[in-house]
Amino acid sequence: MPGLLLRDIAHLVTFDADDRELRDVDLRIAGGRVAEIGQLQPAPGEEVVNASGLLVLPGMINAHQHLYQVGLRCIAELERATLETWLSGLGQLCMRWWRDGYFTPESVAALARAGMVESLLCGVTTIADQHYFFPGGVTAPYIEATIEAAREVGIRLHAGRGTMTMGHRDGGMAPDETCQTIDEVVRHSSELISEYHDPDPMARIRIHLAPCGPHVDHPELYAIFAELAAEHPGVGLHTHLYEQIDTEFCRQRYGRTPWQVIGEAGWHRDTTWLAHMVDAPVAEVADYAAAGVGLVHLIAPDLRMGFGLASVREWLEEGCTVGFGTTGSASNDGCNQLGDLRVAALAHRLSSADPDRWLSVRELLAMATRGSAHCLGRTALGVIEPGAAADLAAWDITSVDRVGVHDPVAGLLMTGLSDRAELVTVAGEVVVRDGRCVSADEETVAAGAHAALPPPA
Ligand SMILES: [Zn+2]
Repeated sequence: MPGLLLRDIAHLVTFDADDRELRDVDLRIAGGRVAEIGQLQPAPGEEVVNASGLLVLPGMINAHQHLYQVGLRCIAELERATLETWLSGLGQLCMRWWRDGYFTPESVAALARAGMVESLLCGVTTIADQHYFFPGGVTAPYIEATIEAAREVGIRLHAGRGTMTMGHRDGGMAPDETCQTIDEVVRHSSELISEYHDPDPMARIRIHLAPCGPHVDHPELYAIFAELAAEHPGVGLHTHLYEQIDTEFCRQRYGRTPWQVIGEAGWHRDTTWLAHMVDAPVAEVADYAAAGVGLVHLIAPDLRMGFGLASVREWLEEGCTVGFGTTGSASNDGCNQLGDLRVAALAHRLSSADPDRWLSVRELLAMATRGSAHCLGRTALGVIEPGAAADLAAWDITSVDRVGVHDPVAGLLMTGLSDRAELVTVAGEVVVRDGRCVSADEETVAAGAHAALPPPA
């Protein structure tokens, strides 16, 4: 692969250990990695990109996503619904699609492609997906199809083997017709690891083990997954936690907090990352930091479902690893991570009368890059320095909607008519150029996803 030289970058945000920001600098990509940063001359055969109008960041990492939910946006009857109503409405709709033959590996792949292209266009270069919906309890190759879609589109994917194993008949909260046995999910998880998981620091595809939550999964499964992950370097552990619904469930069923329940299953470790945590007690935050778990902030679903604001300032103060994500489009209605960062920058101003406690733009961007990368155990991602993966995202800061911006980093979040990146690379390959996806045809991907959906009722 020929090298790439970004010349005269207007503003480079590295998120390296010193949080360096550089102006009017050149950056060389070679062999899928960042090779050099400085005042550089083009090498023979190297493509040169004029970056004099660009703000360049590490490609963002969406640390919590459900790609199949791209087909479940803006459902009119669920526009204003709290979690239980929303979950049951969504479950019924998906079951109907499945019975009618519309929920297939092919349709999941078509929807995932659309979510992946949308993600690339807003500067996301790695997605941690969690597919937990297996209607009829059947292990169809939804995750395998999602992985193939990621390879086609050219995005990095951490594919999460999601589960629901504790249905109503076991006292859990999942519909019985969507549950699988522990034996079956462990069998399939092992198969996915041996077939697809790549422990290499530059891996394109990794597998993680991802029970949906303690309200729909048995503690035994959490324990078995902890053992399975420990046998395979780079296989992480991920779950929803403190998404409100599980807090009362765990108190009633186990007399424990959700954090205690997963701890007894061996999940208090630095290969674990946890989604939402919106209902997590501040008194436990020091334990999260001590265990080294990652915490993923999901502002859009936390607001959309009426949960409120997670205690992100307290997490950061305690030294927790904090990442950022969108969750699936069903409880977000989109997967625009950059747009969600803007929502977070504004929403957290309601959390305190003291402006010093609000989340800054740089803190949020660090969460969406380096923080998410650390959640996933990927220290070569989410940072721009020699040797790091050449996953970059760049935005035009010279356009009319950014006139008058004094701080271009703040301007990225707080101004602009569009969140579309101008240039995005994954492993040094250009996937977005001039604001258009070039690794997949946007119109074809959109048409394929539309065609995968049932006709309107
Ligand atoms: Zn989720």
